[in-house]
Amino acid sequence: MFENSLEFAKKQDASDSLASFRNKFHIPKDSSGEDLIYLCGNSLGLQPKITSEYIQEVLDDWAAYGVEGHTEAEHAWLPYHEYLTKTMATIVGAKPSEVVVMNTLTTNLHLMMVTFYQPTKTRYKIIVESDAFPSDKYAVESQLKFHNIDPKDGLILWKPREGEELCRFEDYETLLKEHGDEVALVLIGSTNYYTGQSFPIKKITDLGHKHGCKVGFDLAHGAGNIQPNLHENGPDFAVWCTYKYINSGPGSLGGCFVHERHANNNDLKRFVGWWGHNKTTRFNMRHEFDALPGAEGWQLSNPPILSMTAIRASLDTFAAAGFDNLRKKSVQLTNFLEFLVDDLKDDRINIITPRNPEERGCQLSIQVKSADKNLHTELTEAGVISDWREPDVIRIAPTPLYNSFEDVYHFTQRLKKVLN
Ligand SMILES: *Cc1c(COP(=O)(O)O)cnc(C)c1O
Repeated sequence: MFENSLEFAKKQDASDSLASFRNKFHIPKDSSGEDLIYLCGNSLGLQPKITSEYIQEVLDDWAAYGVEGHTEAEHAWLPYHEYLTKTMATIVGAKPSEVVVMNTLTTNLHLMMVTFYQPTKTRYKIIVESDAFPSDKYAVESQLKFHNIDPKDGLILWKPREGEELCRFEDYETLLKEHGDEVALVLIGSTNYYTGQSFPIKKITDLGHKHGCKVGFDLAHGAGNIQPNLHENGPDFAVWCTYKYINSGPGSLGGCFVHERHANNNDLKRFVGWWGHNKTTRFNMRHEFDALPGAEGWQLSNPPILSMTAIRASLDTFAAAGFDNLRKKSVQLTNFLEFLVDDLKDDRINIITPRNPEERGCQLSIQVKSADKNLHTELTEAGVISDWREPDVIRIAPTPLYNSFEDVYHFTQRLKKVLN
């Protein structure tokens, strides 16, 4: 149903109801003013044009009101995180009470492990997928060490089989069959940052729970990309960042999900701060800690409004496009990319991302045998912004908010040229 031609790509763009959203973003340009082919939303999402207005509003309120801005600003700062909750909850398929924007991803991961990783003498191990993102691996190892557990003993890797790139669900089943009663926590990055594999969240969660484990997900590459349906799928917690697919600016704040079943459980251990305390008595200052129900109860600090306002600008853009529409376009864009890459008919190329759209987001991880980083450099010189992962993989992520079918077409043409 796809054709390998520029006309075809243009026709797809012309009939795309989301095509106009591209104009709502700043697209980086080359030195002659041409749009670069930006396929790197998995690393840093582009800036919505409205972001600067939203930030200016906060700066103006701060100038006009000083401290009174907490209550007097048009978007008062005191409850500012609440303006983000509804859309963020929609994006990850959660109830609003289950979601909060706070801190950054790795910080939230630690906070969640403080609560949901409670090792005992016999149940103390953590399962992660073997090629977890380095920060996640460091965080998990440090949690094990914090509890005086040697990571060599405490960490179980869910690995792809010899000669394969992707993790198979059967092998997760086997791990749990063999070690289920020793596992305290399952922590999986979905979508995997390297292969682009999206794991079956519900199946992983149900099986983990059946074996008495807590289950959490790192959605750094999932949030704003796939629909993780967190409430229905039922993991205990999830964490994500907002600077990748959620276009909220470099190093912007992260998101955190705590399932409703834990919302009012005050027996859960946690590291706390005043922002997680009952809103009505927070400023009385002398009360015993009284956790807010739901995910908000894990907040620590008075948050950075300037970062949150960039998230609000981005979420307003998501809400206007509609997440279901975005996901539909995303599947089409990536299928088109896959078709064009296959049509290069180049034996050096191997797409390691799953072929089934249900098992991936927008990213394709394209392995180019015997290539090195020069390939990436040449692509960059050809006006393609992509991302290189050693030893031989380019990650290409066409995002439905600002990428076009034409972008995808030009990318494969330029890849072809560089490879020859
Ligand atoms: C991007 C990414 C991170 C980054 O964590 P920060 O705390 O935001 O720096 C962590 N984990 C995964 C899986 C990522 O993809």
